[in-house]
Amino acid sequence: MKLEKLGKSLNDQKPKRNLACPKCTAQMKEVKVKIQDANSPVTSYQCDECGYFDFEEKSMKKAIKEIRAKESPLKIKQRIIKLSHNRLGMYLNRDVARSLDIKGGEEVYVSVPDKKRFVVEVG
Ligand SMILES: [Zn+2]
Repeated sequence: MKLEKLGKSLNDQKPKRNLACPKCTAQMKEVKVKIQDANSPVTSYQCDECGYFDFEEKSMKKAIKEIRAKESPLKIKQRIIKLSHNRLGMYLNRDVARSLDIKGGEEVYVSVPDKKRFVVEVG
């Protein structure tokens, strides 16, 4: 009973201590990496010998969850509407307007960083 317990706890520690590089079997460094928009740092394993780099799955999944949680309240599906004289327009959702603190008649800057996005910047 006692031996069984000891063996189990040793096994639990194995993934943390055994940081041999899967490519060259050199000892890898454990480095915490900060990812943009994620609160928790991601654990990464880096090999100085061959340059192998890997993320620890559990911490990576946590970070991805945090990033998604931050993005979701800001993403709203809206329809482009036709205005007179072939111009196009878009209603601003009340929540968006409130969180940006903008009112009718206000001037904003619109930029197009690529073919899939346009950014409205509030002065
Ligand atoms: Zn290596």
